[in-house]
Amino acid sequence: MAVVERRVFVQPSLYRNDLSLRLRRAVRGEVLFDAAARGRYATDASIYQVEPVGVLVPREESDVRAALAICNELKVPVLARGAGSSQCGQTVGRALVIDYSKHLNRVIAFDQEAGTAEVQPGVVLDALNALLKPHGLWFPVDVSTSAQATIGGMAGNNSCGSRSIAYGNMVHNVAAIDAQLADGTVEFFGPFGRDATRPLASARSAQLVARLFEIGAREREEIDRVWPTVLRRVGGYNLDVFRPRSERPYTPDGSVNLAHLLVGSEGTLALSRRLHLKLAPLPAVRVLGVVNFPTFRAAMEAPQHIVALGPTAVELVDRTMIELARANPAFRRVIEGALTDPAAAMPEALLLVEFAGSERTALLGQLRRLVALMGDLGHPGSVVEITAEAAQKDLWDVRKAGLNIMMSLRGDGKPVSFIEDCAVPLEHLADYTDQLTEVFRRHGTRGTWYAHASVGTLHVRPILDMRRDGARRMRAIAEEAALLVRKFKGAYSGEHGDGLVRSEWVAWQFGPRLTRAFEEIKDLFDPAGLLNPGKIVRPARMDDASLFRFKPGYAPAALVPALDWSAWDVQNDPATEALSAPGTGGDPARGFAKAVEMCNNNGHCRKFDAGTMCPSFRATRDEQHLTRGRANTLRLALSGQLGPETLASDAVAGALDLCVSCKGCKRECPTGVDMARMKIEFLHACRRIRRLPLKDRMVAHLPRYAPWAARVPWLANLRDTVPGAAALAERWLGLAAGRHLPRWRGDTFLAGFPAARNGASAGATVVLFADTFNNYFEPENALAALHVLRAAGYRVEIARPAPADAEPARPLCCGRTYLATGLVDEARHEARRVLAALGPLIEKNVPVIGLEPSCLLGLRDEFLALGLGDGARALAANAVTFAEFLAREAGARRLALPLRPLAARQVLLHGHCHEKAFGAFEPVKTVLGLIPQLDVRVIESSCCGMAGSFGYDAAHYAMSMRMAELSLLPAVRAAPAEALIVANGTSCRHQIGDGTARSALHVARLLEQALAPA
Ligand SMILES: Cc1cc2nc3c(=O)[nH]c(=O)nc-3n(C[C@H](O)[C@H](O)[C@H](O)COP(=O)(O)OP(=O)(O)OC[C@H]3O[C@@H](n4cnc5c(N)ncnc54)[C@H](O)[C@@H]3O)c2cc1C
Ligand code: SF4
Ligand code: SF4
Repeated sequence: MAVVERRVFVQPSLYRNDLSLRLRRAVRGEVLFDAAARGRYATDASIYQVEPVGVLVPREESDVRAALAICNELKVPVLARGAGSSQCGQTVGRALVIDYSKHLNRVIAFDQEAGTAEVQPGVVLDALNALLKPHGLWFPVDVSTSAQATIGGMAGNNSCGSRSIAYGNMVHNVAAIDAQLADGTVEFFGPFGRDATRPLASARSAQLVARLFEIGAREREEIDRVWPTVLRRVGGYNLDVFRPRSERPYTPDGSVNLAHLLVGSEGTLALSRRLHLKLAPLPAVRVLGVVNFPTFRAAMEAPQHIVALGPTAVELVDRTMIELARANPAFRRVIEGALTDPAAAMPEALLLVEFAGSERTALLGQLRRLVALMGDLGHPGSVVEITAEAAQKDLWDVRKAGLNIMMSLRGDGKPVSFIEDCAVPLEHLADYTDQLTEVFRRHGTRGTWYAHASVGTLHVRPILDMRRDGARRMRAIAEEAALLVRKFKGAYSGEHGDGLVRSEWVAWQFGPRLTRAFEEIKDLFDPAGLLNPGKIVRPARMDDASLFRFKPGYAPAALVPALDWSAWDVQNDPATEALSAPGTGGDPARGFAKAVEMCNNNGHCRKFDAGTMCPSFRATRDEQHLTRGRANTLRLALSGQLGPETLASDAVAGALDLCVSCKGCKRECPTGVDMARMKIEFLHACRRIRRLPLKDRMVAHLPRYAPWAARVPWLANLRDTVPGAAALAERWLGLAAGRHLPRWRGDTFLAGFPAARNGASAGATVVLFADTFNNYFEPENALAALHVLRAAGYRVEIARPAPADAEPARPLCCGRTYLATGLVDEARHEARRVLAALGPLIEKNVPVIGLEPSCLLGLRDEFLALGLGDGARALAANAVTFAEFLAREAGARRLALPLRPLAARQVLLHGHCHEKAFGAFEPVKTVLGLIPQLDVRVIESSCCGMAGSFGYDAAHYAMSMRMAELSLLPAVRAAPAEALIVANGTSCRHQIGDGTARSALHVARLLEQALAPA
């Protein structure tokens, strides 16, 4: 294949200093030119990595104008970026990256009657739709990345979603674009000619447009000859605006709208300043018919017939994904609800067929027609009808989760996106998928098929090892896939754009003549070639290894980690590997680097909706303070790309500074990046070269000095009782003066139960683990738990050090404070004490019940990484939170707890991040639900911001409050005065107290209050 030569640009690195200086003078936004920041913007969700010249995060629109002028003068390329979730390498390049997502994200105007909105490019789709929902409208290009994707990026890629058969791509839904050309010209691109709402602003634009029309007219025949006719085609420039041919013209009357040429241009023609959008009425009702197919081929033959029924979506879920969902306890019920007979042989594929509209009866009629059609096609009884809204949502979630599990494959072989969205006419879908599967087999790999059957765009990612022979296989598969696409008259790029991985194929798809026309268009808009060079026209080769994230010679530093990461060091065989295969063990050092490399930059952590991940990003909107930014920083540092210092470097310290170790990413990141655990590793590396500051020593060794402090609580509490002491403590120790410290108590929980009275182990049915915090600061919580457990008839053993313990008088401790400061050896010592003490009970499978989520769940999590063997695994299997234990017992109908209504009838519940991360939050709701007549409302909150000692640190105090103010504190303040607030985390309760002056309670206290008198 001939590849058009790349243009040579003036070497931008020569201008880096000059550029950064001039930008700093000219703009109000952030100018980020350090190596780590550039590294964080060097990747997107593709396989590529190209270091940008620098990064600008503009604060206002004039910043972009100023930057463009400077870049023009210095001849530095410019690359616009939204969420950076592109899969093809559109947002990586040697350029000044302009990140629109942080500040340029406002909805400027909204006209409900006209159904239009004007937005800045950085607005996120879900945020826009949340605003529109109360007005019965939405912007219907429902990309899977709706929680991250910005409208500017969606327009750049001509994105489309699951319901594109009904609503089309971006190009069908963008009415106009207010844009800036590379030379600074500002122009409104919209309907042209008699439909024009505004005249062109400059002679430069008039000339440009006249030339565009000339090219359009000149190429009419060639467009007719080679333009793909499938609904999904996003490659090249939309030159067909001048010759609309597809079944779905961009404008209903076939007139020309110049904005449509910019849509899909990947930031190579102009920068979008404002986008004018067409909105759609939000469908009042949706129904779902799930068709079960005995063979994959049958599923691929059906969509051509199903689309005639007018569905809004036809989505494929293949057997691998069905199996993955069935294997997952969280999804089994939902996926089995979609099977015609869960006891019978597993279907080879499902098609999720959705109908949407305003009339339920009409939609039910469409469902009946689907059932009849399937009967006619030889699949009677194959449709499961799902009409309840919640059940439909659950099933869509399963589809998404299946993809996530696939992406979490460990080892160097990864599902790679490069032919993920070829589109073929529906009548060829079955042959295309058959033959491409055969291509994979011949190249020693495989892929799982899913997604948009309605428009012939099925996603598939062959598993390739891009550090070894992946590039060779990628090219070979791409070439064979291209032949199939040609044979079936499809489009090579049907959804995700061209970027680096597919621009090379533009010439293949459109031929030399239209390729030259595309180059002409590029040169007319951007004669100096400054905007996102090398994309769509004049590309590099897709397999140019110098552009890869894992370039030849990539090698992470050999360091000895403190924790066990061996499970990540697995070798997988692309041809045979079960997609969900967990790691079975390998080298711990390699494992750590591989755990870091699990981040594939998909951007899912840029979340603002439900869930926890990632509180520091929610508060800052900075790439640096995002799970992805952290994983990238670690990867670059470990592989020496940020300098000789690796793990314990300033770059890593900066990125991890605001990580509150909430473990939100451990659960919510599709690939399971566990930044909290990685932070322990970083802190441990720092401890090796730097002494722990006094404040951190006070935190770390709290379990050691606690018994002494509890003997003189008045003395230990002086910091909060003597005027001026808090200010001094801030100056000397760095403890935030604005905080109260936890109050030491003389009447600790364990003091009330001397060891002599602790003789129940022979017949104990449960063990209560009193953590340091509940024992010394809030003993009433542990007492409440004890009363409740006893009231329910359990024989409770209180966890105590083993008789042979070297410090028998010092209570057991989970080691959390040591882990939080990187003192892993000390944490391991504490863990060993716990194992020695509880071993005999664990052998008898006695549940170990804890109150503080971060302590108890540490027994299930970090203990397993401390290299403590089978004992730790047995303890992990038996360790449960107080609520988990009671919910489990209630579920098994073993719980006899006499509860009566409380005086308060409403409870606001805040979940601790670790409860959420380990699925231990639902049980809290279940347990509160046991109290009669109690109305339990969950606060949609991320981390409370206190996060152990984080919020006590003067340097983090403001950030801690910012995190809390995102949703938790406003919700508590808005709660009725008589409502109770429940939060199981010590830190969460403290944050609520400091931020609202309201008291929050542990769930054990509520249950105790609700206990009926014996
Ligand atoms: C797991 C996963 C699922 C996905 N699912 C879908 C899907 O369902 N449908 C789909 O279409 N895509 C999908 N994508 C791809 C991607 O998420 C979408 O294309 C998304 O719309 C990109 O938005 P973004 O804000 O991340 O844009 P970015 O990736 O930041 O940018 C995209 C392009 O737009 C350009 N751009 C950004 N801002 C501007 C501006 N102001 N002016 C000019 N150009 C600009 C950029 O230069 C770039 O070329 C998926 C990606 C992933 C990782
Ligand atoms: S950290 Fe996880 S969620 Fe975030 S980009 Fe990486 S893989 Fe995606
Ligand atoms: S542990 Fe929490 S704060 Fe840290 S990266 Fe993960 S989600 Fe973000």
